[in-house]
Order: sequence, then C-alpha cells, then structure tokens
Amino acid sequence: MSGLPFRFFTVHVLRTARVGAGFVRVTFGGAELHGFVSGGRDQRFKLFLPHPGQDLPVMPDPSDPDWFTAWRALDPAVRGIMRTYTVRELRKAGQRSAELDVDFALHGDTVPASGWAQAARPGDRLVILGAVEEDNGGVDFRPPPGTDSVLITADATALPAVAGILAWLPADLPAKVWIEIPHADDRRELPSRADTVVTWLIGDGATPVLEAVRAAELPGSTPYAWIGGESAVVKALRRHLVSERGIDRRAITFTGYWKRGSSEDDLIAEVTD
Ligand SMILES: Cc1cc2nc3c(=O)[nH]c(=O)nc-3n(C[C@H](O)[C@H](O)[C@H](O)COP(=O)(O)OP(=O)(O)OC[C@H]3O[C@@H](n4cnc5c(N)ncnc54)[C@H](O)[C@@H]3O)c2cc1C
Repeated sequence: MSGLPFRFFTVHVLRTARVGAGFVRVTFGGAELHGFVSGGRDQRFKLFLPHPGQDLPVMPDPSDPDWFTAWRALDPAVRGIMRTYTVRELRKAGQRSAELDVDFALHGDTVPASGWAQAARPGDRLVILGAVEEDNGGVDFRPPPGTDSVLITADATALPAVAGILAWLPADLPAKVWIEIPHADDRRELPSRADTVVTWLIGDGATPVLEAVRAAELPGSTPYAWIGGESAVVKALRRHLVSERGIDRRAITFTGYWKRGSSEDDLIAEVTD
C-alpha cells in the first residue's frame, strides 16, 4: 500500500466502546480524516501506533513516495508500530467532518495493537495510511464475473471485513458464511440484501470452521470464496476448497489476517529481510 491512491492521516480517538466480550470499537476523528475514502467490503488500511511514552508515532516524511524504505530504516524501538486493520464504518457529514470505526479483536493487553485499543482514551493520536480513492488496492473482495454464489469463512479479526462484504453484496445472491469467534456474545447483526446463511462457531482454533465447511453443502455452480483468519487455518480451508471441492483457485481470495506465534513485525521481516 504505497503511493497513490493512499496517503497518511493523523487522527485521534473520539470515543471507545466495548462490543461484546471480545472487541473494542475505536471511533477516530480529526480534521484530516475527511480525505480518507473507503471502497467498502474488506477495505484495509495501515495504522501506526506510538510506543509507550510517545505522543505520536515517529514516522518518515509523509510525502516520501518510498516511505516504506524510510520507515524500515528507522529504529524499530522508536518508529511507529505498523499494523493492518479494516474499515468497520466510515461516516461523513458535510464537507469537513468524518468518523472512522475500527473493531479491534482483543487478544491480550501487552501486545501493541490489542493492548493499545484496550487502553485507548479520547484524544489519543495515531497515524493511518489509507485510501483517497474508492477504487484502490486495499479491497480484496472481488468476485469474478459469472459468480452465482459466495462462500465466506472468517475469525474474529476478519469479522469487520465480513460485515462490510455482506453490506455490499447484491440482492438475493446466495451467500454461506461461517464465522468463528471466541465468545458467544460477539455474535452480531450482519445486515445484507443478499440471501445469507450465517453460521456462528465458538472456538479459537482451526477445527470448528474447517469441520463445518467440510460437512456443508455449498450453493451454486460457480462460487466465489473469500477466506480470512489465522494463516494456517486459511491455508487448510483453501486447500480443501481447491482439492476436495474443485473450486477454481482464481475464484478464491484468501488472506492470513494473523499467524499464530508471529507478530505483524515478524511477518513484515519475513517478506522484506
Ligand atoms: C487485511 C487485514 C485486515 C485486518 N483487520 C483487522 C480488524 O479489523 N480487526 C482486528 O482485530 N484485526 C484485524 N487484522 C488482524 C490484526 O492485524 C492482527 O491480529 C495483528 O497481529 C494485531 O496486532 P497486535 O499488535 O495486537 O499483535 P502482534 O504484535 O501482531 O502479535 C502478538 C502475538 O499475538 C498473536 N495474535 C495476533 N492476532 C491474534 C488474534 N486475533 N488472536 C490470538 N492471537 C493473536 C500473534 O500470533 C503474536 O504471537 C487484520 C489483518 C489483515 C492482514
């Protein structure tokens, strides 16, 4: 996500709310946020967190087209901590004011993003790298022409993306959805015009969602599948859909939202070192 159509925005926390046992919803605002745009669906963006004791994350020159190289050259103990999140909702009022909701799945208070969200207070500031055009590379849910049904699997981290996808789907398209969450009270309404069947599974690992999909009858003859969640689970589900169900691999979008045992810093280092 470098260069156009993305840019950096400094934002601050307007308010926070606990959503079920497993999430904190942080609502961001700020004068700059009005330029931020969402293409809907699973629109992702980068956020940069300050280290303890910093008021704002330490960032490279925001106008540098190669900001990533410049960010990587900064001391990891000082530079903004980069994480990937999803637009849960972007609301704009008039020409100036915008609010961005982000749902943080909680998985510990000593890790950077989950810990930051749990402690966030109105006025706390951070930097986001987000889209400035609706058609942007931070949207991955792109069903090919001819898709006659949709199949979605997700865990808690991908639940915000699923909410955006279901809100975007056309009327009456059959969509089967499996969502694995750690707590029963994290179930929520997922409004959609599509013909959705949502199955909630309570668990924190590989088996419930994989077993549920294995046992399911899938709708349509040219389905499009979107898989988001823990990396190993995502890979196993994709393997099942390609090898055992014969779904065209080009009609599957799969994204590891996190990897057990690795922080996002470890994952960035894996691909760039
Ligand atoms: C495209 C995309 C969109 C995403 N959108 C969202 C979103 O909207 N909301 C959201 O909550 N997350 C989202 N994520 C996932 C989020 O980026 C990761 O969970 C991230 O690792 C959280 O950063 P952290 O600083 O809390 O933990 P890290 O410092 O990255 O990791 C610390 C430890 O926690 C483990 N860990 C990370 N996530 C989890 C988890 N969920 N459960 C259990 N252990 C975990 C890691 O394996 C590691 O051992 C998204 C990821 C991607 C790729």
